[in-house]
Amino acid sequence: MSGMIKKTVLILKGKEQMADWGRFQFLAVFLEAVHFILAGIGLGIGCWPLAAISLAALAIEIAALYFSKKFNNTFVGISILYFTVCIHSLVACVVLGWTFGFSLYNLAAIPVLFYMLYFSEDAHQPKKCALAYTAVNCIVTLVLRRYVYLGEAHYAYSREVSFWVSFFNNLSCFLFVIIFSTMFMLELMANREKLENQAEELKCLADYDSLTKLRNRRSMLHVWESVQRDDYCVVMGDIDDFKKVNDTYGHEAGDEVLKLVASIMQNALDSGDYASRWGGEEFLMLVFGSASYALKVIGRVQRELKNADLAVRGKRIAVTMTFGVSECGEAPDGNLDELLRRADRRLYIGKNSGKNCIIMKDE
Ligand code: GH3
Ligand code: MG
Ligand code: MG
Repeated sequence: MSGMIKKTVLILKGKEQMADWGRFQFLAVFLEAVHFILAGIGLGIGCWPLAAISLAALAIEIAALYFSKKFNNTFVGISILYFTVCIHSLVACVVLGWTFGFSLYNLAAIPVLFYMLYFSEDAHQPKKCALAYTAVNCIVTLVLRRYVYLGEAHYAYSREVSFWVSFFNNLSCFLFVIIFSTMFMLELMANREKLENQAEELKCLADYDSLTKLRNRRSMLHVWESVQRDDYCVVMGDIDDFKKVNDTYGHEAGDEVLKLVASIMQNALDSGDYASRWGGEEFLMLVFGSASYALKVIGRVQRELKNADLAVRGKRIAVTMTFGVSECGEAPDGNLDELLRRADRRLYIGKNSGKNCIIMKDE
């Protein structure tokens, strides 16, 4: 029950869409209520045809609700409800004349029809269908308008009765349009929020590595290209003998090592710096500051790696990394490719001189 209340609140706030069936059920119940009251009015004023057609409409709407649920198809249900409303009001116009305001239902039903078909999961061609149904409604209403204008109303009532019936019809048509237009807007808002969340998720998937949650190479390059400063260092770090970790402890343990390295790097950085998974077991950091600041950051990473307690089957996995560093000022205009080449070359030198070290100059 509390789940239902929560869902209703979310729908009313435009945060969640209505279920297809819930929306249809609401429409059917609304129309049933209107036709039930009209049947009462028909009985009250002694207009048996109005009472009879309103009860018939009510019966059709109850049947539409039942069979739509049974056959799990809201499209047929919406079509039946639409034509029931239109036919009911046209017959009422013929019986009572135009002044009772029944023709308003034919107008009010149009936007509701577009809304219901647009969101119905069972309507395969909602636009074509809505336009075709509206055209039929429009033509029949206009032809009947002429017929009723020329002919005489079959029942004559005082101005007072005609006023109150038309008052009720006006009121229920206003409510009909206001309620369903609001629902339409709320559903569009919920839809927009859903799309925005999905776009955000997709952007995250496109920019971040799913394993380590660090930026991927593409997104890091993007960030780097937008950097306006020239006081930064490029730090290329590579896990030493990572293949051995995979071979000895398994691929999953290797993944755990990658996640550990990523979180250590992220924690070692200041808020304006960036870390990324450049590829495989290679990481690239952009740290804003001098070479000595970059050394400090790398020192933090090395210390944390040394203290890290990653064990598989009771055996501690020792993780070390080799780093190659280049400084922005070393390349003309901070050329990215040149800075990358230098950092990479120094990493390579580090690998060839025993690993687990930091190389900042070509030697
Ligand atoms: P070096 O010290 O010279 O860097 O040696 P290394 O073993 O670390 O480097 P090598 O290039 O020989 O091997 C890298 C390994 O990283 C091979 C590859 O299977 C593994 N690897 C790459 N991406 C992943 C990953 O996402 N998960 C795991 N578990 N392993 C990965
Ligand atoms: Mg390696
Ligand atoms: Mg490597």
